[in-house]
Amino acid sequence: MAILPYRPEMPLDFGQLAWQRAAEEALQRVRRRLGDRVGLLLGDHWVQTADQIVSRNPARPAEIVGYTAKAGGEQVDRAVEAAWAAFDGWQRVPAPSRAACLWKAAAMMRRERLELDAWEVLEAGKSWPEADADVAEAIDFLEYYGRQMIRLGRPVALTPLAGEQDDAFYIPLGVGAVVPPWNFPLAILTGMCSAAIVAGNTVVLKPASPTPIIAAQFVRIMREAGVPAGVLNFVPGDGSEIGDYLVSHPRIRFISFTGSRDVGLRINQLAAQPRPEQRWIKRVIAEMGGKDAIIVDETADLASAVQGIMRSAFGFQGQKCSACSRAIVVEAVYEDVIGRLGEMAKGLRMGPPEDFSVAVGPVITEAAQHRIMQYIAWGKRHARLVAGGRMIDHETGYFIEPTIFGEVAPGSKLEQEEIFGPVLSVIRAGDWDEALAIANDTEYGLTGSVYSQRRDRIDAAREVFQVGNLYINRKSTGAVVGAHPFGGFNMSGTDSKTGSPDYLLLFLQMKVVAEAF
Ligand code: NAP
Ligand code: MG
Repeated sequence: MAILPYRPEMPLDFGQLAWQRAAEEALQRVRRRLGDRVGLLLGDHWVQTADQIVSRNPARPAEIVGYTAKAGGEQVDRAVEAAWAAFDGWQRVPAPSRAACLWKAAAMMRRERLELDAWEVLEAGKSWPEADADVAEAIDFLEYYGRQMIRLGRPVALTPLAGEQDDAFYIPLGVGAVVPPWNFPLAILTGMCSAAIVAGNTVVLKPASPTPIIAAQFVRIMREAGVPAGVLNFVPGDGSEIGDYLVSHPRIRFISFTGSRDVGLRINQLAAQPRPEQRWIKRVIAEMGGKDAIIVDETADLASAVQGIMRSAFGFQGQKCSACSRAIVVEAVYEDVIGRLGEMAKGLRMGPPEDFSVAVGPVITEAAQHRIMQYIAWGKRHARLVAGGRMIDHETGYFIEPTIFGEVAPGSKLEQEEIFGPVLSVIRAGDWDEALAIANDTEYGLTGSVYSQRRDRIDAAREVFQVGNLYINRKSTGAVVGAHPFGGFNMSGTDSKTGSPDYLLLFLQMKVVAEAF
């Protein structure tokens, strides 16, 4: 079968009435299935536990999306065993057959696209377009990594020597722990798991606790797509309870993590300590937080800059690692930009994201709501509140108004710490050079944008702005698999660049055989 070149999925247009109607029908179908109980998947067995994770709709916390079993140490052991039992067979499955499993899963996601969108609206609090972008990205990862593995499954070209045959090929590592975040509940989890699996590894997946039901949809789809028992094991559980145990397990060969800086650093530290009977140095792939900046200079197209800032800052309530949390604006246009941002914030409708006219939905949990409100309280004392600043009572839903602070001091708490919510700090810079220096004054280095018409400044930013993903005259979110390999510098992680030709190498090792004749 000829393999067509990879092409990113196109988003669905929820501005059209026909799509809105289809989406509402999908939502009704999904609502009829709310409250299901999902087990752990250990090898071929779905296992229930007395303890349960309860998944709630953050826009309507009384609505329970579903329950999953909750793994303890003993179940983690069984999952690791099952994964090793499956590894021997799976690594021998030819790369094109492993890739075909990913493509079948992609086909299933396309068929179930609106239902998957609906699960995200209900479990993660995403708007329909945000939910659909996440599902589309999951499909992209499956299509893209399948093709990459076919390339990497071929022998590596070497320099021939006389009198011997030299071969090099990529082989998998073994059993890995995959620990994704909740904020791209399908795409990131799909990318992390499918990359490890298509490379021939087997996986123990611990989903993020706020979004285990979407994770369970992925597991079901992969099994139906032909991924054999034991290749993908599913152990929902509290990160603070079983996270350390899973990461420290002597039979875990690698850890693929995406989440916050603190958890990533902890994992890196735990993984570095060899345990009794451990035979390898664990490989850690860790993608972490950001404090992403958008710079606006006096030559910028302000209308476009302001729109880019608003979309980057408040899309999915600012809960993206790529979200703009700092707008750094030069003096000459500062008041103008602040005024426009404040006006636009007033126009954003907040409410349950199943409603198509809503721009701002809830934040993910009550705990997140309180954490973000503490930053807002700090901001009210130390900066100028331009818009928003209030929360809605949590029993109604975990809502926080899109909040903008002006006159945020460089180096201050608001300007340095990742807030991960709908809070934008606007920082005044004397001129372009100062703006660039403020942007780089962070331990993070994930995304950044520059709005300017000056070629010399754009070129300077290309060179000097220390981020893994730099955008010029466009928003800082919405990386496309294959087109925008994604991953950050410094405390933003190991720069593993998802959706790139290099990514699968993180799940492989090269074996070389030289045979003398
Ligand atoms: P998080 O709190 O760090 O959690 C991430 C995952 O780690 C979850 O599955 C969590 O499980 C688990 N975990 C927690 N403690 C653990 C431990 N001690 N050992 C092992 N695993 C543990 O992050 P989050 O709140 O889910 O996601 C938001 C963060 O992710 C932000 O910082 C954001 O910037 C970052 N992010 C980065 C990227 C990127 O590409 N760089 C992409 C998306 C998100 P529980 O849910 O059970 O606690
Ligand atoms: Mg968390």
